[in-house]
Amino acid sequence: AKSGGRGSFRFFEPELDQLMHARRNMERDMRDTLARGEFELHYQAIINAGSGEPSGFEALLRWHHPQRGLIMPAEFIPLAEETGLILPIGDWVMRAACSEAAKWPDDLKIAVNLSPAQFRSKELVSTIVGALANSGIAAQRLELEVTETITMHDSEAVFAALDQLHGLGVRIALDDFGTGYSSLSLLQKFPFDKIKIDRSFVNALSGTNEESRLIARAVVRFATSLGKTTTAEGVETGEQLAILRAEACDEMQGYYFNRPICAAEVLKMMHRHVKS
Ligand code: C2E
Ligand code: CA
Ligand code: CA
Ligand code: CA
Repeated sequence: AKSGGRGSFRFFEPELDQLMHARRNMERDMRDTLARGEFELHYQAIINAGSGEPSGFEALLRWHHPQRGLIMPAEFIPLAEETGLILPIGDWVMRAACSEAAKWPDDLKIAVNLSPAQFRSKELVSTIVGALANSGIAAQRLELEVTETITMHDSEAVFAALDQLHGLGVRIALDDFGTGYSSLSLLQKFPFDKIKIDRSFVNALSGTNEESRLIARAVVRFATSLGKTTTAEGVETGEQLAILRAEACDEMQGYYFNRPICAAEVLKMMHRHVKS
């Protein structure tokens, strides 16, 4: 319903009703999936640019809906955030990811995405501490991925939580860098160890796009000068890899190396590696 007054509102009502109905169903299905423990995590390798070996994996949430099939996070996380379900889902993700990482060689990190909404919970720090204790992995192996939007709300509370976690040894990464609005001073204030260069910049990289190369160079130099490492997201071509290497980006992630894979495939991959 746009500007047309009551008449047009009535015209759109059935669609609005349908939309509300669909959202309620989806919310109910998310609750059921959570209660049955049927969410799943896939893992994508984060590759050290120097050695070409994985330094860790990023956990990515997957929902296999009984009727609708595979649903990607972009389709359900926004509703989970609105309804508050992201809190129990986020707790599940944290516990599942840490327990899975406990099966890996202990030089491999596990990166977990956090929604801004999770910082509104007073329990965030204790949930993470609990997940670490439960799994037995060292705090230094856990990397939290947060976006610039977290700094926009209750910045003092967010800062306190991140600072506390960082003090325990947990690593903090700034995700999707370049897509948000945060000032450069926030980057200095918050305890970020790593900056993840958003896929949109990496995508634009090619031998002929000098401008995008200059952006990548500027970000890497800026991060490095603040003592932070850099990871390029969404690397899809050998050309992008070569450029990012030449610009001294520390880590790479993307379909060029691998797609996110299920937990069992990660273990198989490690097993093959040990044997060869
Ligand atoms: P993100 O944190 O930026 O994660 C990277 C996304 O890019 C993933 O999509 C990954 O599958 C995809 N990707 C990786 N390499 C490539 C590539 O080379 N090309 C392209 N085109 N895409 C690539 P995914 O798994 O659909 O996740 C989307 C977003 O959903 C994530 O973006 C993250 O913001 C959110 N998300 C995923 N899992 C969780 C979770 O457990 N908790 C929270 N709060 N958010 C999550
Ligand atoms: Ca991420
Ligand atoms: Ca990202
Ligand atoms: Ca994202």
